[in-house]
Amino acid sequence: MNDVIFGDHYAQAVLSGNLRQREFRISHPDTLMAFAMVDNHLSTFAYRTKVANDPAAFRRLMAMHRADVKKIAEKRHWAIPLMVEIEPNHREVCQVAMPLRYVWNISDASLEAWVMDICPACTGRRMELMDGQDGRRVLSDIPCKACAGSGKSLPVVEPLSLLPFVGQVLEILTRRFESVGRAANKKLKG
Ligand SMILES: [Zn+2]
Repeated sequence: MNDVIFGDHYAQAVLSGNLRQREFRISHPDTLMAFAMVDNHLSTFAYRTKVANDPAAFRRLMAMHRADVKKIAEKRHWAIPLMVEIEPNHREVCQVAMPLRYVWNISDASLEAWVMDICPACTGRRMELMDGQDGRRVLSDIPCKACAGSGKSLPVVEPLSLLPFVGQVLEILTRRFESVGRAANKKLKG
């Protein structure tokens, strides 16, 4: 099966709650076992939160993700420009290490955008809704303003200048997400 189908299958396995059920060709226990064999705790946990939409896992994931993003910040030497008084009446813009509270902001914003990546305004349908003839809301042919027609939610972070860092973390999360799905799928086949 391809990795997308594996993701759906995994979500069903987690949500089924009945591990004896064998209504799928590959059983839920097999899927969960394959997943447990992928040796990357944080990524598998993130995968579970996203694919299986597990709200209990989210809070725990947030703390784990913060620790992870802190490491990324150190490794990549994240810095922000700051006006520093070099000597009396002489100020210069210096690059200073990213304050920890900003690292937490980036961490939380990236995780939220990654897990809840569907635009809330159009619920992923990419177009503005309008009133139909029978009073129901129907899709128009105007791209959704909130997401610029992407269907994805845009990350929200304070201050806004941190947005490129959120983008860096989102890239890492997406890459890991794909590799975990691939690895688990491979275990299942092998
Ligand atoms: Zn939208």
